[in-house]
Amino acid sequence: MTENKTSVALIGLGNMGTPMASRWIAAGYSVHGFDVNPEARAKFASAGGQIHQTAADAASQASFCVLMLPNSAIVEAVIGELCDAGSLAPDSTVIDMSSSEPTSSQRLALSLGESGIRFIDAPVSGGVRGAEAGTLTIMAGGEAHIVESVRALLECLGNVTHVGPVGAGHGVKALNNLLSAAHLWLTSEAVVIAERLGVPAQTMLAVLNSSSGRSGSSEQKWPRFILPGTFDSGFEARLMLKDARIATGLASELGMPTSLGEEVVNLWNEAGHSLPANADHTEIARFIEKRAEKK
Ligand code: NAD
Repeated sequence: MTENKTSVALIGLGNMGTPMASRWIAAGYSVHGFDVNPEARAKFASAGGQIHQTAADAASQASFCVLMLPNSAIVEAVIGELCDAGSLAPDSTVIDMSSSEPTSSQRLALSLGESGIRFIDAPVSGGVRGAEAGTLTIMAGGEAHIVESVRALLECLGNVTHVGPVGAGHGVKALNNLLSAAHLWLTSEAVVIAERLGVPAQTMLAVLNSSSGRSGSSEQKWPRFILPGTFDSGFEARLMLKDARIATGLASELGMPTSLGEEVVNLWNEAGHSLPANADHTEIARFIEKRAEKK
């Protein structure tokens, strides 16, 4: 089946969901959305989305149902609601673009498949700005013909790579964020150490960014969100910790030890206990600075 409908349902209208919806609306799709948060619903409606009072109502309007939710437990609960309400027709496609757990996605694909409903995972990297600009990296996991059937829809948001079977997208995404969490932590420590040597943060970053220690953290996160003191990337620290945990869980399931990965999880977990619940992940730099002052 090829993509022949101009309607898409979107459940989860948060930091990522709303700019994604705006891209689809601009491309001519009619987007039917639901979120438990009334403020998120209002924002989506003002962006031109068609708001519904339940996830099931939204999903029943389209043959593609995209999920952009905080975690696998919520993804599973929402899919359960949609199945109980009978709002997913046979041959419809569920696309989980959240950062979720690979094994949960594999189970969902199997159970939905029994009713003829197709499922792929297609998590993203690139943040809120990538969603706004349509430059996300999209890591799709699932059967090739299903991925191809939704390629045009996904390409409104960025570049799609079919990385492997169901769950592979979520695995690759989690591994990417484990690296990103490690880079941000160590870059922040390196900046504090350099400052103690008398090297200003800007100078340190300029050198890193033309040297081999550079990363997305030194090139993007520090200059955009940390140096200006805005800490407003739109990606929360608790979501980063969730992703790092998924990656180390996957490593353990697959029998691959990752001592450094485990330490990254422990450090972000420690920070999570000190930072406010909804703190942006770039606040980690401020946390590291304060933690160093105490030593
Ligand atoms: P968010 O918290 O801003 O948005 C999630 C939305 O889901 C919220 O508006 C919340 O009210 C809604 N929600 C929660 N439970 C629900 C339910 N049962 N039914 C309907 N709606 C429900 O999070 P986000 O930053 O948009 O991230 C969404 C997903 O994308 C996460 O899995 C995250 O890890 C991933 N992600 C985020 C970014 C980023 O930069 N923010 C980047 C890549 C991936």
